[in-house]
Amino acid sequence: MEAMHPDVDRVLFSKEDIADMVKRMGAQISKDYEGKDLVLIAVLRGAVVFMGDLMRAIDCPLAIDFMAVSSYGDGAKSSGIVRIVKDLDIDIKGRDVLIVEDILDSGLTLKYLMKNLSSRHPASLEVATFLWKDVEGRTTAIDPKYVGTHCPDEFVVGYGLDFAERYRNLPYVGVLKPEVYA
Ligand code: 5GP
Ligand code: MG
Ligand code: MG
Repeated sequence: MEAMHPDVDRVLFSKEDIADMVKRMGAQISKDYEGKDLVLIAVLRGAVVFMGDLMRAIDCPLAIDFMAVSSYGDGAKSSGIVRIVKDLDIDIKGRDVLIVEDILDSGLTLKYLMKNLSSRHPASLEVATFLWKDVEGRTTAIDPKYVGTHCPDEFVVGYGLDFAERYRNLPYVGVLKPEVYA
């Protein structure tokens, strides 16, 4: 296994774990979207790494596009009210849209986004999330069709996920050492 970053307390999902999960998701998506008009939409910036891997694990024709949103509120907790900072460049009307997400926590951000995208009348609209923090006793606002893996209720970084814009380039998903937050 690759050397661990000194700020990382422990690795939750290794590069090899991730490759397996992405391969499995890509195979399922390829099957489900055969003969359809697939458009992958990633929300910047966290989902970029997963998007890059997932699109190469799908072997049916597809288009990709990106959106950027900024949340209102203190940033620590999802308010679910977002402003679209960068909108899609392509028209999704009548197409089969799959939102590609890095991590699903409350799901509030995605719920808002899905409502917005639905109003553009895609033929279908689903979510593929790499990580899902589906904590017991709490419900997620949306139901993802494809999930890489479940994730414990801890703050994770790597594989696109940041803390203060750092650690996105780590090839694994890990938990930061508590002193990094202090
Ligand atoms: P939600 O609206 O689902 O609560 O918020 C999801 C967003 O919060 C993710 O797209 C991500 O940007 C951020 N987020 C939630 N949990 C984590 C985490 O454990 N680590 C990192 N780096 N970001 C997280
Ligand atoms: Mg995200
Ligand atoms: Mg972030």
